[in-house]
Amino acid sequence: MRLILMGPPGAGKGTQAKVIAAHYGIPAISTGDIFRANVAGKTPLGIEAQRYMDAGEYVPDEVTNAMVRDRIGLEDAKPGFLLDGYPRTLAQVKELDTMLDDYAVELDSVVSLTVDRDELVGLLLQRAQVEGRADDTEEVIRRRQEVYEEQTAPLIKVYDDRGMLLEVDGMGDVESVSRRIFSGLDQL
Ligand code: ADP
Repeated sequence: MRLILMGPPGAGKGTQAKVIAAHYGIPAISTGDIFRANVAGKTPLGIEAQRYMDAGEYVPDEVTNAMVRDRIGLEDAKPGFLLDGYPRTLAQVKELDTMLDDYAVELDSVVSLTVDRDELVGLLLQRAQVEGRADDTEEVIRRRQEVYEEQTAPLIKVYDDRGMLLEVDGMGDVESVSRRIFSGLDQL
């Protein structure tokens, strides 16, 4: 199974990514998690990425693309993978197409979680507290929503036009959302 999981910040993507990946026995590859681990480890990649992340901006495509290309080339991703938080720009879609071609594999589906926009900022501020992401201020959170609308929302149409989109209602408790995702994927 090769999947992309999309959804605005606050849609509970990370949680669902882990549930879906465990179900299919594939790695959940979260670009946000990889960046955060690099920031924590003060690696050159982390040092480069941090200033963008702190501002709620996207890390430059070249940096992100190279990281994903390496990651999906690893042994554990051979049987399949779930991408969480990638691609987020049209340039990343193009680059991912090339990577998949190079590895001679295809995507099965693009799952898009839909949420009530009004509830998002509240959920995010809550998460910032729970996870101790103190850098997640309201201003940065709002900037992330804007960046998502501008740069990432258009990708949904791209995958829809390819007939690969599975839209799932992302509101509600974790189990209900997971159930909706699996019932959609089961019908593929
Ligand atoms: P969120 O869902 O709140 O945006 P993530 O954990 O997915 O958080 O990502 C955190 C940050 O990492 C993003 O705000 C961005 O700076 C960077 N990042 C993650 N994925 C990408 C990507 N595909 N392209 C560019 N930057 C990314």
